[in-house]
Amino acid sequence: MDFSELGLSAELLDAINAEGYSTPTPIQAQAIPAVLEGHDLLASAQTGTGKTAGFGLPLLQRLASGKRAASRQVRALVLAPTRELAAQVGKNIAAYGAKLPLRTQVIFGGVGQNPQVEALKRGVDVLIATPGRLLDLQQQGHVDLSRLEVLVLDEADRMLDMGFIHDIKRLLRLMPPKRQNLLFSATFSNDIQALAKQLLHEPKLIEVAPRNTTAEKVEQIVYQVDRDKKRDLLAHLIETQKWYQVLVFTRTKHGANRLAEQLSKRSIPAMAIHGNKSQGARTRALGAFKSGELQVLVATDIAARGLDIHQLPHVVNFDLPNVAEDYVHRIGRTGRAGSQGEAISLVCIDEAQLLKNIERLIKSSLERRIEPGFEPDPNAVAQPIENGRRSGSPRNASRTAKPGRTRKPRPRNRQRSSPERG
Ligand code: AMP
Repeated sequence: MDFSELGLSAELLDAINAEGYSTPTPIQAQAIPAVLEGHDLLASAQTGTGKTAGFGLPLLQRLASGKRAASRQVRALVLAPTRELAAQVGKNIAAYGAKLPLRTQVIFGGVGQNPQVEALKRGVDVLIATPGRLLDLQQQGHVDLSRLEVLVLDEADRMLDMGFIHDIKRLLRLMPPKRQNLLFSATFSNDIQALAKQLLHEPKLIEVAPRNTTAEKVEQIVYQVDRDKKRDLLAHLIETQKWYQVLVFTRTKHGANRLAEQLSKRSIPAMAIHGNKSQGARTRALGAFKSGELQVLVATDIAARGLDIHQLPHVVNFDLPNVAEDYVHRIGRTGRAGSQGEAISLVCIDEAQLLKNIERLIKSSLERRIEPGFEPDPNAVAQPIENGRRSGSPRNASRTAKPGRTRKPRPRNRQRSSPERG
């Protein structure tokens, strides 16, 4: 299959060439013709599958043939859960559309709104936005969605997890009923299915990687370790195994900060990235990590979504995620596009149930290892898991541990640390 067989214009084929893409990914091969024909889409695809070009290329082609956006008007809207994802999608769309006379703009919170307002005044053909800031600007009268031609919901499952459903519904009421809708989601929960039913008209279904399967090229290892030895074990593994680029996941923002500080003190360059950091700090950390200056990036799940970091040699779960699906997202960061990756989980006795949930989801059992010198205490007692709500109080001081039992995670109510809004 070649890009030239998909019905794309010469300008877009040039842009694809300039990006260095030679063959379409599976989602592109399916999505591009469907979107060009004007169909609604329900697509299951994670970051890393090439989904952005899958919707971005045909979207640009359709817009190029119509009338340019008037002042405050938006012709195509891509909603994304996080600033990072919005920025990344915006960058890609701008590159794909470089040869087309279309205006692309990214808007998200956490930065001044004036440049965004100015851009909207000129009219925007493709707007990439996080829901909160878009609604703010709409309420101030800067955005007109009444003639929207195409709506894309990117990482829709994550937007629902982050509590954006009401913002999305309010935005939907501002759009004309007749439009093209493209919904991308890594998982199809009941909530996503309900949203799809409300939003999509006879959608084409596209599923690239079967749901909830982990990449085969990723070697997955569980190190069994005591909770208070995790930090030393991580530093030890980084040093002895000479990991030079490691993405480490923690459950909470506080945990991310603390771990980054502790590694830095041991002369392992590390920074934390999460929603409490300014946009500038996040961009700097990401840039330093990509360039190899920064050896370790510590991230929370939500902050990591939309980060354009691929084919990492090592991803470490310093804490297991409360939600088993997040494990799949996390380890999807490694071993992409034919390169072998390693996903390492440091698991203490408190996390036994979380590990079971993950193994049930991915339908395989993970290899256990014990690093000499870090043998877990056989008499250790499980404690309830910290959920990141406390500030400053001693660990779990207010709760009593039930000896020999771990806290059951709540499978439906996707409990997380405080939400990070884009
Ligand atoms: P995405 O899933 O859209 O975030 O894309 C993941 C990465 O794959 C991005 O860095 C894209 O630039 C890259 N990419 C997208 N399509 C292709 C392709 N057909 N060939 C090679 N790389 C691609």
